[in-house]
Amino acid sequence: MNAPRHHDVVIVGGGNAGISLAAKLRRMGCHDVAIVEPKQLHHYRPLLSYVGGGMATMEDLTRAQTKCIPDGCTWYADHVTAIDPDRSVVHLSAGRELHYNDVAVCPGSRVDWDAITGAEEAVATPAAATNYLPEMAEKTWTMLSSLTAGRAVFVISERHVPCAPVGLKPLFMAADHWRRTGTLRDIDIELLVEGTRLVNHDDADRELRAAAESYGVRVRTRATVEAIFAVTRSLRVQTPEGTDELSYDALYLAPPHRAPDWVAESDLATPASEGFVAVDPRTLRHETHPRVWGLGDVATVGTLPSGGALRKQVPVVAHNIAAQRARRSLRHYDGYSVAPVTTSRRELLLAEFDRDGNPQPTVSTPDLVRPRRSTFVFDRYLEPQVYWHRLLKGNVS
Ligand SMILES: Cc1cc2nc3c(=O)[nH]c(=O)nc-3n(C[C@H](O)[C@H](O)[C@H](O)COP(=O)(O)OP(=O)(O)OC[C@H]3O[C@@H](n4cnc5c(N)ncnc54)[C@H](O)[C@@H]3O)c2cc1C
Repeated sequence: MNAPRHHDVVIVGGGNAGISLAAKLRRMGCHDVAIVEPKQLHHYRPLLSYVGGGMATMEDLTRAQTKCIPDGCTWYADHVTAIDPDRSVVHLSAGRELHYNDVAVCPGSRVDWDAITGAEEAVATPAAATNYLPEMAEKTWTMLSSLTAGRAVFVISERHVPCAPVGLKPLFMAADHWRRTGTLRDIDIELLVEGTRLVNHDDADRELRAAAESYGVRVRTRATVEAIFAVTRSLRVQTPEGTDELSYDALYLAPPHRAPDWVAESDLATPASEGFVAVDPRTLRHETHPRVWGLGDVATVGTLPSGGALRKQVPVVAHNIAAQRARRSLRHYDGYSVAPVTTSRRELLLAEFDRDGNPQPTVSTPDLVRPRRSTFVFDRYLEPQVYWHRLLKGNVS
């Protein structure tokens, strides 16, 4: 039953990256693609922000995995526990070995509760939440919408958080809700951002700061939360000015993330890659194992990890697997990434940039960095359809 099997390409992780890549490879004529993915349900994660802001339900973003696995692919509903690149073998938790010609590693990243003392205990209480975990997304809106007075603290880490600036979406949707319900004046909003900017794009950063000011949000950058004390509902934050203690009535976290332990402990990671899969950020090929490819949140792609970035990474990996076999030149990923951030319950701006923070707009007009109703409608209602019906079907080029 657990006899070793061989597949042309094995894909580790059936999230955004893995399913899109599998579909793209099938479209390009690859006959034997296997996906290892333990979860029976697939989530369109960008909608988790709208669940946290009370504008979507978990049902809106969940599909059965069986409906997402592309036709003709073999699915192993199991965890990968290790990859042995010298023997070209993937080990599954049930004991099976999968041999491959090429392997694409994309199991994403995970919340790093150890990075902030007391954070995990805090989110177990009604006064703190994160929508970065599907099981807590609904609680985020319960917490924010039930606050009518007091202090709301929003914490955005920059340590490997997927699409970190979207952590601002629940803030702006909640602030707009508080304004509409007449409670905004009784709520003191604090935003603690670990980086130097709200987003890696000058004009978008300015727009977001202006939006924050319009709601009376106090913004502090280079603010690292060191510890959260659930019992006293307070936190300790390190800023350039020194250490501060802050109490909260509602605490929102976009928490630090890290690579899965089995990746960090393997030789797919290097000391410089901080536990992530060490790929050449242009070709997405592993630095030392040429039949290993890495993409998505787990790979050192040198830019903000995001679903939008995957639109560019997936075709590069699919092309490069074939090109390397045919001894053709490899394509390069340019580091494109994107952060769509709501500034209210009806408007959104789109910051698109490369890995150096240079603007890289998909369209030159209109200027999508200005908050608009149309981009909000696209992000909330149309993009999920594009995801299910085009991206997961390998329609990326
Ligand atoms: C709250 C939130 C909001 C976001 N909003 C946006 C947005 O608006 N726009 C945007 O562009 N991006 C957004 N993102 C980022 C985007 O969702 C991610 O960048 C994208 O999902 C990364 O895809 P991935 O396949 O690398 O990882 P994931 O989507 O995390 O998929 C990884 C998969 O690997 C599986 N896996 C894990 N371990 C193993 C193992 N050992 N063996 C086998 N399989 C394994 C997991 O079950 C999972 O299905 C958001 C993310 C979050 C969390």
